[in-house]
Amino acid sequence: MLKKGKKIYSIITGCCPKCHYESMYINKNAFILSDTLKMHEHCSNCRTKYKIEPSFFYGSMYVSYPVGIMFAVAAFVISYGFIGASLNIAFIAIVVTMIVCLPIILRLSRNIWINLFMSYDKSLAKKK
Ligand SMILES: [Zn+2]
Repeated sequence: MLKKGKKIYSIITGCCPKCHYESMYINKNAFILSDTLKMHEHCSNCRTKYKIEPSFFYGSMYVSYPVGIMFAVAAFVISYGFIGASLNIAFIAIVVTMIVCLPIILRLSRNIWINLFMSYDKSLAKKK
């Protein structure tokens, strides 16, 4: 499922959306909070500029809403449906999940956002 050349690969791994060669982020670990949103300016392989226009990644806010809902629904289904917790505990589980997974939600929405505008290019991937 996770093969280079598919958008889902770039979305999940956070690599360059055009060549899938290297990570867009300076620190691969999203949970180092000071580096969560720090990105390279260009791809070192294909020279793709990630920030197409000023404030480009503000648009990822629109994506982060449904992504956040997905995490919340997953937390609810697991705590209420599978574990059988009460509604109050399920609510707490949702809040904790949203706080703990915030760096992942932020990066996932950025990855989805940039992949809406750029596609994999086979000719760029073969450069190196
Ligand atoms: Zn690239």
